[in-house]
Amino acid sequence: MAYQSVNPFDGKILETFEELSDKELDKAIETASRCFETWKHLSYASRAAIVSKAAAIMRSHVDELARPVTLEMGKLFEQARGEVKLSADIIDYYAKNAEKFLAPEQLHPATGEAHVESAPLGVLFGVEPWNFPYYQLARFAAPNLMAGNVVMVKHAGCVPRCALAFEKLWKDAGAPAGAYTNLFISYDQVNRIIDDRRIKGVALTGSVEAGKLVAGRAGQNLKKSTMELGGSDAFIVLEDADLDKTVEWAVWGKMNNTGQCCVAAKRFIVVEALADRFTSKFQAALEALKPGNPMEPKTTLGPLSTESALVKLVDQVKRAVAEGATLVMGGSRVDRPGAFMQPTILTNVKAGNPAFREEFFGPVALVFRVKNEDEAVALANDSDFGLGGCVFTQDVARGKRVASRVDTGMMFVNHPTWTTADLPFGGIKSSGYGRELSGMGIQEFVNKKLVRVSRLDDPA
Ligand code: NAP
Repeated sequence: MAYQSVNPFDGKILETFEELSDKELDKAIETASRCFETWKHLSYASRAAIVSKAAAIMRSHVDELARPVTLEMGKLFEQARGEVKLSADIIDYYAKNAEKFLAPEQLHPATGEAHVESAPLGVLFGVEPWNFPYYQLARFAAPNLMAGNVVMVKHAGCVPRCALAFEKLWKDAGAPAGAYTNLFISYDQVNRIIDDRRIKGVALTGSVEAGKLVAGRAGQNLKKSTMELGGSDAFIVLEDADLDKTVEWAVWGKMNNTGQCCVAAKRFIVVEALADRFTSKFQAALEALKPGNPMEPKTTLGPLSTESALVKLVDQVKRAVAEGATLVMGGSRVDRPGAFMQPTILTNVKAGNPAFREEFFGPVALVFRVKNEDEAVALANDSDFGLGGCVFTQDVARGKRVASRVDTGMMFVNHPTWTTADLPFGGIKSSGYGRELSGMGIQEFVNKKLVRVSRLDDPA
């Protein structure tokens, strides 16, 4: 079944959901379209009252909302709680700042008067992934609702309870029918909705493969799109890094959400003066992680999102080794029920190995040894992806220099790539285009309309 809740900790099916018929989908689009006609005319303050109520509801139901995240996709419960709070922060951030971000911009032409104003586009369609089942929705929905658009979302098939909980949040906050709509729909219906003339923009967060299909379809319809796709972030360790702290962050950057983050540290690029010591400390820290029930606080290694994600990742590691990589640790499923993957380190992944260019979506670290900073930057840039990355050094000026030389959408100095409401998020190359979050994220689906005022007797 396409929309099914399965607990990856024990494989139990929790609930299965029916997909919409084409007729029901059409009706939902009609309701959203009608809603837009009134929603767009509300003042920012009226929209903010509803949007900030949604954030308040999230904050007062943290455990209740975190539970389905852990049960459906295996995120450690404390991390699921953190995701609920982060999502509430994002929603609040746009309730507070949207009007300022979208204020008319006065221009100063040679003669007369002109300004650019920001008008909403209409009904937007989002396709979203399971790895942060609320955060991904919040960063699409909150800015666009505040901008005066309305949104329809196809969430990932494995997190339907989270999809419904997020939709209910808007209803409970007082949003009118059609402002936020969850859609349990097939891939064919994804195409159908993109083709529909009432849909004015398309956003996808997910894999490169899905991005190409959805962006292609939006392109054929000349509809604006944003694509937040995969990554293979470099975690660069220079010889002057503080080793102990760097290893702590390396474990966090790799293992947060069990490695299933687009911006997880995936390629550890370590200058050779520190390489052996870094790898052995990193390995020891990964070996200390304890698999178990993700609902329990003592568990430090949760399951992957699904059994099929685990099978795919184990197979990917096997292929990497068959093509010449060295398996330093891990590489298999954990010998227990559930979709658990051993933390894994691969070295000697050479440029000819397909693994060199692939994204490993889980607790698999590729460790590379380089001679110096220049080699580290060259290796970081030798990737089809360009999402995030980070550099560890005790010399902040040097860290900033290295950050400027790496070709990605985001670079962090002395912290793994991460996200907050007020920082732009997005990538380049195969990691996609467009930005979400911050003042930039709210500009993607608005019409930047020029209004020019002339005097009737001005020259032509
Ligand atoms: P995915 O398979 O591409 O799924 C993402 C969404 O796209 C899901 O809703 C999925 O629906 C839908 N989808 C997949 N194929 C489709 C198709 N042919 N037509 C229409 N819809 C389609 O990605 P995933 O494996 O769940 O998520 C992991 C990927 O997302 C990784 O590559 C990760 O790096 C990336 N990601 C990127 C960001 C970012 O901000 N850059 C953030 C998070 C994740 P179903 O679930 O029903 O298949």
